[in-house]
Amino acid sequence: MIDIDYSGLSGRKAECLPGCGMCCLCQPEILPQERSYFRTSHPKAMVRNGSGGFSIALKKGQGSCVFLNNRKCDIYGKRPTFCRQYPFHFYAGDRISAELDLSCRGVWTGRGADAESEARQIASESQDRMVKALRESKAVYEEFYSICTDAGVMGDTQSIRADISSNIQRFADPMSIAEILAAALDDDPLSVSGIDFRGEADLEELRAEAMEASLSSMSSEDPLNLPVYCGQDFGWNMFQASGDRVTWYLLTDAGDLEEVDSVRPESIQLGKPDAEGMRVLTDYIGLLNSRESFLGSVFYKMDDLGYEDPMENVYAGSLAASVADLMWRASMLDAFMGTGFGADGIRETIIFYDMDRLDAPAVGAFI
Ligand code: SF4
Ligand code: SF4
Repeated sequence: MIDIDYSGLSGRKAECLPGCGMCCLCQPEILPQERSYFRTSHPKAMVRNGSGGFSIALKKGQGSCVFLNNRKCDIYGKRPTFCRQYPFHFYAGDRISAELDLSCRGVWTGRGADAESEARQIASESQDRMVKALRESKAVYEEFYSICTDAGVMGDTQSIRADISSNIQRFADPMSIAEILAAALDDDPLSVSGIDFRGEADLEELRAEAMEASLSSMSSEDPLNLPVYCGQDFGWNMFQASGDRVTWYLLTDAGDLEEVDSVRPESIQLGKPDAEGMRVLTDYIGLLNSRESFLGSVFYKMDDLGYEDPMENVYAGSLAASVADLMWRASMLDAFMGTGFGADGIRETIIFYDMDRLDAPAVGAFI
């Protein structure tokens, strides 16, 4: 059996909520061993995907999976592996770790099956794919470490995480986020514990940066690539930035987009969580700080930046930028729906944000 780290799931439960269907908006891939069933029974439901394989077709090319009817799966017993796995993800870095997608509302109820037991069961059925993915990702990681060492930008990931962990509250405060982002631009390796927080950063600049990051994820012309927020009423909300407006749409079960409202993004002020919101947010930041996939996304960024910046700086800067993005989304949800900045508003924003966070490009891969 392959060694998998399940610590990120410890103590969590997961259930699937009737009437939700949000994960059926993510076009599932059909694995090679699953093709014959679909070729024989549902050939018209197979479409070519960008990786040269097959996925299940979506309604009108942009809605939910064609097998979702009345928010129930018509082929439940035969649904692809990727549907069975959700909301669990297995990330292959220099080891494999199990992660939970917090965009699934069913992981927030505190009910359902024990998440770790569920993930162990899923993993036991996918050993071959995991062994292959780990072999490939380990080779990529070794090359990455070697390039970092040669470039003099390698950091000690355990120390970086410990430094951030002991300063986690700083990452939930807009003024401190702005100061961390400024410190991350230094040439020398950054220690968050060593930053002299003066409370003098430019919050307008932070608002503009956070808005830009959020809007870039909403700027696709293709509805398939727009972020989805599954509301408490299981409405499938999508947001598109175009021109000088950001528009809120509802995706219908038939696969149509209906406009609900729009605002000028510049009119949205960056809100600040209250004490309870801060507690939910710091828990989430702690989770990001422990996720191997987040580390993989930091490594991807270092590669993108040409190995010129110390790992400490890219890590802290990426985490601060992620929280700024999340806070702008919280402010946008509040402007549209009045979700607020308490525990509920921050939880709703994490439900909105986490799927995109997990989708961020990374060195290594999800299996
Ligand atoms: S997102 Fe979660 S709760 Fe919703 S349908 Fe998928 S597994 Fe069920
Ligand atoms: S096959 Fe079923 S479970 Fe999978 S996306 Fe389609 S409707 Fe959802």
